[in-house]
Amino acid sequence: MMKSLLEYIKEAEEKKIAIGHFNVSDSEGFKAVVESAKELGVPVIIGVSENERSFLGVAEIRALVQVEKEKGQPVFLNADHTYSVEASKEAINNNFDSVIIDGAEKPFFENEMMTIEVVKYAKEKNPNILVEGELGFIGSGSTLRDEIPDGVSPATQTHPEDAQKFVEETMVDLFAPSVGNVHGLIRTGEPKLNIPLIKKIHKAVGVPLVLHGASGNTDEEVRKAIEAGISVVHINTELRLAYKKGIEKGIMSSDEIAPYKFMAEGVEEMKKIVRAKLKVFNRI
Ligand SMILES: [Zn+2]
Repeated sequence: MMKSLLEYIKEAEEKKIAIGHFNVSDSEGFKAVVESAKELGVPVIIGVSENERSFLGVAEIRALVQVEKEKGQPVFLNADHTYSVEASKEAINNNFDSVIIDGAEKPFFENEMMTIEVVKYAKEKNPNILVEGELGFIGSGSTLRDEIPDGVSPATQTHPEDAQKFVEETMVDLFAPSVGNVHGLIRTGEPKLNIPLIKKIHKAVGVPLVLHGASGNTDEEVRKAIEAGISVVHINTELRLAYKKGIEKGIMSSDEIAPYKFMAEGVEEMKKIVRAKLKVFNRI
């Protein structure tokens, strides 16, 4: 039988490597991520935000992942940034492998209450479904930015004591801290990841850590973050950029009208990013 997502994540935590989490919006993105992971022989997590899910269809993306699982491919499905308990329940009911209940912008207590509700619901439904909680705001939206978004600063980085309390009281399986990571890609490459803080938080919470918003961070920084206790790394913005660039090339380079030909360029460009990232995360 195939190992569960938690087993893969725990194994990554021990080996000091990380599992790649890539967001997709459509079947081309899905193809790019799955083919890259297959080529390298590593497990992978497909992420779909609430908007990506509504474009793709919740049951539809679940079916795509299921096909890979039945082929014995370790492909897992995560309901990325889910801002309501209701939408979390929908993902759980559709048998997603994991769900992120994101109350990071809410006051601590409110965040805790909604996270507890989702953990309880998920575990009753299926103890294998993982719930990830977040503490510390890192901005939202996988876009290109000229500067660090409002409301994100060293002051909004997660305190290890708060993280410990949050994880203990909510009983989440995975924890996403704010450690200098920011959603989207900031052209200046700032801010840098706070590696000592990652270490402290990992020690304090005792569950695997997830790094969001890793687009734009250097390979070296990400390697250090993994060494410090990150077990899952999220990439979205860099994939989106590569996809758009590839499709543009496909459309502009000829009068080709077959979508599977001009879209293929988008898939190829995404695969270059996914492969490069997976090599860094898995130390290949
Ligand atoms: Zn994220």
